[in-house]
Amino acid sequence: MSAGLNLAQQEAVNYLHGPCLVLAGAGSGKTRVITHKIARLIQTGVEANRIAAITFTNKAAAEMRERAKSLVGRPAKEIVICTFHALGVRLMREDGKVLGLKPQFSILDSDDVTSILKDAGGTTDAATARQWQWAISLWKNLGLNAAQALAQAKDDNERVTATVMARYEERLAAYQSVDFDDLIGLPLKLLRDFPEVCEKWQKKLGHVLVDEYQDTNATQYELLKLLVGERGRFTAVGDDDQSIYGWRGATLDNLRRLPKDYPTLKVVKLEQNYRSTSAILRAANNVIQPNPKLFPKTLFSELGEGEPVRVIDCDNEEHEAERAVRRIQSIRESGAGKDWKDFAILYRANHQARVLEQALRKAQIPYKVSGGQSFFDRAEIRDLCAWLRLWVNNDDDPAFLRSVTTPKRGIGHQTLQALGVFASQYKLSLFEALFSSSLGSVLSARAVGSLHEFGRYVNDLEFRARHTVGAEAAKAFLADWLKDIGYEKHLYDSEDNEKVAAARWTNVLDFCEWMAARCGGEIDDAAGVSMAQERKTLLEVAQTIALLSTISEREKDQNVVTLSTLHASKGLEWPHVILAGCVEGMLPFKPEDADGGVVSESFAQRLQEERRLMYVGITRAQRSLVVSWSKKRKKGREMVAAQPSRFIAEMALDKATTKEDPREKLRALRAEFARKSAEAAAAAATPGAA
Ligand code: ATP
Ligand code: MG
Repeated sequence: MSAGLNLAQQEAVNYLHGPCLVLAGAGSGKTRVITHKIARLIQTGVEANRIAAITFTNKAAAEMRERAKSLVGRPAKEIVICTFHALGVRLMREDGKVLGLKPQFSILDSDDVTSILKDAGGTTDAATARQWQWAISLWKNLGLNAAQALAQAKDDNERVTATVMARYEERLAAYQSVDFDDLIGLPLKLLRDFPEVCEKWQKKLGHVLVDEYQDTNATQYELLKLLVGERGRFTAVGDDDQSIYGWRGATLDNLRRLPKDYPTLKVVKLEQNYRSTSAILRAANNVIQPNPKLFPKTLFSELGEGEPVRVIDCDNEEHEAERAVRRIQSIRESGAGKDWKDFAILYRANHQARVLEQALRKAQIPYKVSGGQSFFDRAEIRDLCAWLRLWVNNDDDPAFLRSVTTPKRGIGHQTLQALGVFASQYKLSLFEALFSSSLGSVLSARAVGSLHEFGRYVNDLEFRARHTVGAEAAKAFLADWLKDIGYEKHLYDSEDNEKVAAARWTNVLDFCEWMAARCGGEIDDAAGVSMAQERKTLLEVAQTIALLSTISEREKDQNVVTLSTLHASKGLEWPHVILAGCVEGMLPFKPEDADGGVVSESFAQRLQEERRLMYVGITRAQRSLVVSWSKKRKKGREMVAAQPSRFIAEMALDKATTKEDPREKLRALRAEFARKSAEAAAAAATPGAA
């Protein structure tokens, strides 16, 4: 099992009988140690089902299983590879009965928790409930129960929260339910209070391996300690410089405690980075340098100096998104990266994805949003897209069904079912069928009347969209249409929580604004792209958006650009990475209104974690890295002036590296031209495009 491992890695892999900590910087092959060690354990005769490898996310678990499969083949199926939470579920389903929990207990999602908290705390205000939720979660992660939380409460606010927590816990017990944090806390209680159960699990697991150890919290530490017992057969791998979940209770104390709790702990350090070029690694080292060191570490790469790290200054967020797209197109055009999956755009907060998504859609680049929901997958946007698809192609039956029922217009389930049977009998689309003269034989005159009315309305919209040109006209048209169908009211009626409904309505308005701008080229002007954009009719714009809905189909083969938050990018790597939105306030992040208030940290402390986040982002890149920022940023619905992130200066890049490569613009223009030709050809071939 020594193939593809350096000496230090081999040392960690071959140390099988005691506690082992691999402490090393990003990209040094820590995760690789885990997969190879699994293989090594199996090779020495440990049964696969007695090995537990704990990862940070389900996705990481799936990836690790794949890697293990390629090393050990079939037995990989038997290995317990999962997150701490999934391991918790396993323990509780098997032995939770001693804590009074039935094996079929339910696991509550965050919305369930909010509504139970509203009930427990006697409030209808979701924001208050969410603050309690945050605070209770943090307490649970620190290992505190309601009584302990009350005893240590510092003010009235915390005392109220602790009282609500007690009532919340009573309800969970009554409902035979657990929340996410209980999946760690309850197994811990189980192993601590029931020695025979603890012994059983210690016997059951021959070796426990933990990836991303720096992000474990106090309860996870205790759980691990009980699971591995005195023998301490475990391997933990981590990097203190990548600890980015302090805000969720993760603590670096877990690294400090290990040598004390396990005097025989073997510590292995890895120094060679196999992921990134020297230019990228230097920027990463420079950024992390000001943080206090828990353990001294050096990291070098033998992959050569590589391309300089570039900084892109942009005018606003749309411009920034266009530049990111141009960068991707240019690298593809130059032949340096040929697959979409070679690229990732990373950012601090979920909401930053939207403008990037819009730019990628416009350039017809397939992508996925990981660690958050895609703007275009939101129910309200899919509703609107269904209508657009129907204008463009009346025979799109799924679009017909969604439009005719959203918002409801008195055409019921039975009518649609009868229409469906009739249509398939005569081999017609639903839309064609509704105008058929013999429809009256299967439906009442009233039902036929409503269907006709809907059909005429769609035809009318299509006709008007065909003659609507330019941003202003498009905006007015879209506003009229939403009013006609009563979409805003529909959103508020179908959503209990008014704030959520308002946010969804804002998404709708943003989407319409974006569509309208595409009819008149406003976005392109603001982005400073020199290509003049011709004015388009709304129907033409709808046609391209309808075409784009096939992008989600293409996502299935996963050869797509990744959009991800920095937090969700942990442990992953891409040849080309763009770090977007590197402005003060976003990265480092300055929350305007503090959450919950249970843990009050100083900005200096938070800055350290923000710096580690930047370090994580930089070290995801293998061959090229671009850092971009814009002079204006959205704050709520307002635009405010922005400054480049202090981390850009801290990267200490050469001045020369911060200029855009002039060839980039040229290559991007060529790629854009090729795309436009393809788009025109595809639009001409689309049914319904006149
Ligand atoms: P992170 O801190 O980001 O989680 P890591 O320390 O877990 O990184 P890995 O993901 O295991 O690092 O490895 C980084 C890259 O280097 C991977 O592409 C891996 O295949 C490669 N690699 C690791 N060790 C070696 C080695 N000894 N020889 C060649 N390639 C290696
Ligand atoms: Mg890793």
